[in-house]
Formats: sequence, structure tokens, C-alpha cells
Amino acid sequence: MSKFSILKERVLELSEEKKDFNKALLEWEFVNSGVDYGMNSNCICTQENIKYLNEIKNNLNGNKLEPIGSVCINKFGNSEWNDILNKYELIVRWKSSLKKGVIPKFFIRDANDKIINNKNFFSRKFIKFLYNDKAFESDGDNWSGKSKFEFMTKMFDKTKKKNITPQQYWRIEEIISKDIIKFIENYVIKELNG
Ligand SMILES: [Zn+2]
Repeated sequence: MSKFSILKERVLELSEEKKDFNKALLEWEFVNSGVDYGMNSNCICTQENIKYLNEIKNNLNGNKLEPIGSVCINKFGNSEWNDILNKYELIVRWKSSLKKGVIPKFFIRDANDKIINNKNFFSRKFIKFLYNDKAFESDGDNWSGKSKFEFMTKMFDKTKKKNITPQQYWRIEEIISKDIIKFIENYVIKELNG
């Protein structure tokens, strides 16, 4: 039996629907994720040494399943779960960087010295998540959380990065240091062997 089949059986055991796996899956939602920096945890499917400890919950009977590794979460084929997992992965990457005292940059330079987005730490979806989770705080009349979100998205989407002004650079760094770092530091996830 494949590892994922083991997990599928566990899902069916704990679901109200006992036969059709895809139907059973509709009863479940993604609850949260944690990280095991030492990778000493094992997925329910028996996969050893997983890093992300994801938890899902059955909405009909309250049953929970955890930990489930990232590979298995992706195999469920639920794009919403993949997005949530992706958010946790970025938050963990941010936390790891901040622990080392390194503040992630919004832009980096590629091999040809061209300014590009730093996709290890930012994505359009991640900026949206930050906004939805209220990371961007209002600074009085000029900058609402929404205008910060729109500004960061605009800078991320800008094709000619060389046209970004010093003021805009300064503004990006201010939003990172004032809003994003505070948000990441206060974002509580289960962390093992940190
Ligand atoms: Zn697994």
C-alpha cells in the first residue's frame, strides 16, 4: 500500500462518508500548520522526518488528523489548502530569517544585475494574505491598511523596477519594518526544535 493510501484510509475511518474518498474530503478543513525545524516528526502516512505539521479537522464530527506533511497535503488536490500551506511556509521562512537577524528584502538582483522580486519571501498571494490578516496598519489619513496593500502589490507587479523612486524604496522598507515584521513576530505557530 502506498503511503498516501494509508492516509486516505485514516481520512475515511474518521469521516462520516466511509466509502467515497473525494466525498469524504469535503467534510474536512485545514486548521493550522506548525513547523518541526529538526524534522523529527512523522506524517500519518508513515513518512518520516517531515518539516511542516499540518492539521485538518472534520466539520461534521470534530475529528482531527495531524501531523500531515506538505507532500500529502498537496496530494489532496485542494488548491485552497495548498495556498494556506504556502502561506505557512513563507511565514516560517520569515521567522527563520528574522531569528538570524536578517530582514528580507523586497527586491533582489539577478545574475544580470536586474532588479527582481524576492520570491523567497514575497508573492502576490502572500501580500494579499498579509492584508486579509490585518498586517498593514493605518498610519493616519494618508496610508490606510488598504492603500499599503495596494502600494505593495503595485511595486511587486511593476515590470520596470528601475523606475522605482527612492521614496518608494523607502516606503517599502518602512512597511516591511513597521508592519510586516511586527505581524510575523506576533504570528503564533507551533514550533518544535527551533
Ligand atoms: Zn504523508
